[in-house]
Amino acid sequence: MTMKKFSFPIRLKVLVTVMAMLMLVVGVITSTMANLFHQDKTTYVRDYSVGVTEDIRFGMQTILGGYVSATRVLSGILFADYIDSASKNTLIEPVFAAYPELLALVALTNHAEPVSLYNANAMQSAGLEPETLLQFAPRTSHQVGDMISMQSADLKSGGHVITLSVGYSFPGREDKRTVVAVISPVLLEQVLQRAGAFDAVMLGPDEEAIVTIGPDGADIQWARQALTHFDRLGRSSVVEYDSDDGQYIAGAGKIAVADLTIVTRISASAAYLTARQLLNDLVIVGLVIVILASLGGVVVSRRLTRPLERLSEAVRKVAKGNFDVSVDINSKDEIGQLSRSFNEMAEELNVRERSLKKAQLALVQSEKMAALGTLSAGLAHEVKNPLSAVLGYAQLAKRKLSQPDAVKAHLDIIESETRRCNEIIGNLMQFSRQEKGEFSEISINDVVEKSVGIVDHQLSLNNVRVTTDLAESIPPILGNANQLQQVLMNLAINAQHAMGEDGGTISIQTVIDSESVLIIVDDTGPGIDDEVAANIFEPFFTTKAAGEGTGLGLSVSYGIIQEHEGEISVSKAPGGGARFEIRLPVNVGCDTGAMDEIILETAS
Ligand code: ADP
Repeated sequence: MTMKKFSFPIRLKVLVTVMAMLMLVVGVITSTMANLFHQDKTTYVRDYSVGVTEDIRFGMQTILGGYVSATRVLSGILFADYIDSASKNTLIEPVFAAYPELLALVALTNHAEPVSLYNANAMQSAGLEPETLLQFAPRTSHQVGDMISMQSADLKSGGHVITLSVGYSFPGREDKRTVVAVISPVLLEQVLQRAGAFDAVMLGPDEEAIVTIGPDGADIQWARQALTHFDRLGRSSVVEYDSDDGQYIAGAGKIAVADLTIVTRISASAAYLTARQLLNDLVIVGLVIVILASLGGVVVSRRLTRPLERLSEAVRKVAKGNFDVSVDINSKDEIGQLSRSFNEMAEELNVRERSLKKAQLALVQSEKMAALGTLSAGLAHEVKNPLSAVLGYAQLAKRKLSQPDAVKAHLDIIESETRRCNEIIGNLMQFSRQEKGEFSEISINDVVEKSVGIVDHQLSLNNVRVTTDLAESIPPILGNANQLQQVLMNLAINAQHAMGEDGGTISIQTVIDSESVLIIVDDTGPGIDDEVAANIFEPFFTTKAAGEGTGLGLSVSYGIIQEHEGEISVSKAPGGGARFEIRLPVNVGCDTGAMDEIILETAS
């Protein structure tokens, strides 16, 4: 099974790139903004938390300071022996009026029974009976002395008051006095209400609740836990801490009166709600931007890649050989230029294709004509030699009509030469159909001897002597004897022409080496210069005068040797004339058994 390799189209790449960049930008902007806002918000929340705590702490401290002062004033009046009861009442009344939350005083000296002083109206509205006041009296001696303490007291009626104990000791005297002020917590609670969204509580010295607000007012465990995160308490400060139920920002401060502590707290998630809200909004805005940008990216990339797709479609057509294509040019950008160049290229290819077809037709035509010329000229040339022989022997036979045996011999030659003519024509007809001549096992030496036998007479008429030096035990080769004979006759006639009227010698040798049979034809003519040698096997190449030579003999010979998978070459003969060397392979489809035998023979 073949797997098609997946490739990303440009459109997808553009889209992914745009989206990745956008997401990066939007992400960086969102996180930076959220971060800045968070930092800002953190500072703000901390500052605000300190402000709220300090506001409460300071308010409480002011009010409590007032209560301590009022308690001191009232107890001073109460214990002043030099003021009569009526005057005391007159003095006490405005103090109670100034502090309506101050319900009563219960005083104890170290050597008298407790006495109490109260604001009747305020007591009534608070649901407190004068008889019950003594429950607030300090009972143990250590509560008597120079100190201020505060406690929360639940009333049987269900109400709730706080008590402020102020102790006095007088230098140089044994008198010690403690006055417990019973106070309605209303005003203090109001101050605590200012905490708003914060939880807030006022704790006593043992971290017990003195004033609390909220539905879970009684549960002040959170305040004790928060206090563990503060090192030292004084004026209000703030800490951020993690607890089991979340993260909190807590503020705390010490009240200078009666060892009291204000603790406030807000959950971080509530405090940072707006920051989170902003972050959420930013993420939504970012997502919207990314979605819009993706849609934009799809549209833009479609517009970008559509012309490329059209181009690629057109290129595919060109690749299939259809040059009659052009693409629409809708833009002046790089793609537009590319399309224009493509159209020009397609047009150019179209023109070239047409002229190439024309040239091809012309070439085929001229090759056909050349082939026809080669065939007809070759035919004429090759048939001419055996016909000359036929003619020669016919003339001789005529002359020797009185000698029947000689006539018969000549007629035999005429018959065989005529057959050869026929065969040559047959071969040439085969050749014109591009077919091989018939191959069979032949002896090269026989071919040489037969060729010489045919041309010998004509050569001797022109003063040319032929010598042969044939190697013994040449193995048979696979070939066409007539064609090879034709080649040899051709070489001999050419040599005779080259040697001219004075004649000369043609020597033919056959040589055998391990792979091939060599036929070497030397003459004693003028030889062949390099320029002629370079073109000698080309069709129609001739140095002969018009009408004397067609220049086809050697090219036909070349073709025949090629068909035998051999080689023909020209060089200088040792005597200065021309040398033609034909090399024919011995193993071309031939029975190599004969060769083996010969080698064995030679070896023995
Ligand atoms: P043609 O004989 O019709 O000219 P060939 O192809 O047989 O055609 O020969 C081509 C040319 O090669 C001849 O015209 C001649 O110049 C040269 N040539 C061939 N054989 C010889 C040779 N033995 N000595 C010198 N020149 C030769």
